[in-house]
Amino acid sequence: MGESWLEKMQDDRDHRSIVRRAPVTNSATQPLVTPVWPATAWTAESPDALDAVYEGRAPGYTYAREGHPNAAVLASKIDWLEGAEAGTITGSGMAALSAVLLGLLCEGDHVVGGAHLYGRSLRLLRQELPRMGFAVSLSDAADADAIALALRPETRMIVVETVTNPMLQVADIEGIAALARREEVLLVVDNTFTTPRAFRPFDHGADIVIHSVTKLLAGHSDVTLGYAGTRDPDTAQAIAEAAASWGLTPAPWECWLAERGLHSFALRYDRAQENAAELAAHLAGLPGIRRVIYPGLPGHPQHARAARLFAGNFGTMLGFELEGGREAANTLVRAARHIPFAPTLGDVATTLSHPLSSSHRALRPTEQRMLGLSEGFFRVSVGIEDIDLVKDELEAAVAAAFAQAGPSREAAG
Ligand SMILES: *Cc1c(COP(=O)(O)O)cnc(C)c1O
Repeated sequence: MGESWLEKMQDDRDHRSIVRRAPVTNSATQPLVTPVWPATAWTAESPDALDAVYEGRAPGYTYAREGHPNAAVLASKIDWLEGAEAGTITGSGMAALSAVLLGLLCEGDHVVGGAHLYGRSLRLLRQELPRMGFAVSLSDAADADAIALALRPETRMIVVETVTNPMLQVADIEGIAALARREEVLLVVDNTFTTPRAFRPFDHGADIVIHSVTKLLAGHSDVTLGYAGTRDPDTAQAIAEAAASWGLTPAPWECWLAERGLHSFALRYDRAQENAAELAAHLAGLPGIRRVIYPGLPGHPQHARAARLFAGNFGTMLGFELEGGREAANTLVRAARHIPFAPTLGDVATTLSHPLSSSHRALRPTEQRMLGLSEGFFRVSVGIEDIDLVKDELEAAVAAAFAQAGPSREAAG
């Protein structure tokens, strides 16, 4: 009674080695917080017991690349938020998109992607997939008719973002979902910007939902992870298998950090969204700002759609275009000293990014123009801090950039 495993080991000469594994002590109580399980492999009682786990007849884990408790806990929480049946956690948001493509595409398949997809997603669709023999077309996801025109008999899936990065274009999800259903094409929705707090794609006809968990869900800019979920068990299995076979699965510690971040997600989202609406309205009235892009502003091209689909949740992201070119942009970033200039989003703190020098630098100039990106364009990921601090600092930075660019150079942008 009361003998600890350490005492037992000290009694037993065979176990007197720090390399021997310490058995988990029995406890009538449980840890309050999910433990981190760093084990890369799990022991089984016999080959028969291992068979049962591999064949799904008994619950359990075998080898961490195939699955581990920290990934399972995180996946089930995001499944619950999105209303998914089963989801896979991946090593990044890009790994989630890769697992979907690699798990579901077959030889000869064609993919239709939204023309405004995240920069790296565009590169994956346009450069990597064709290299592997898959045909890809890009089309305007704000318009289901444009997507319909891009479909071919061999189209297998449509990939869109609910709200695009960085132009905040709102996809015609319902029109595209109806089209996908009719044509028996899978609809994959990247819900990173909207999050299930504002929009649940499965309730509007999506087949697969993906996330960069790196962003709002984890929320602290200290973990890179992704998620791909679905309501169909066979599809879920195919995605999970692809993630394990192509080595796209995550490490336990990252999953633990993301789970911790997720606990405050709803609170963070609501506060950041309130802040974003206030900042958008404030920036819209400042001299030196050519336009503000925020789905909550009546002038946004898909404002009515956003209001209907998102029930008033217009998100935590906004964009603005400064008058003047690169020099004005440099001045603004230097002047806004306390707003980190960083190519990410969804952090607790407000961050500023400049797509032409970061996420969208690899696009061709014609594509950059097509997206409406200019040297004066900034994306703001609004955080949860006191928004007055951000308003004052950005206002002063815009004034500094405007003074330098000068109103007479208005047309130069
Ligand atoms: C960041 C991002 C991704 C990629 O996610 P990573 O975690 O950086 O791999 C995909 N889609 C959108 C909309 C993103 O913002």
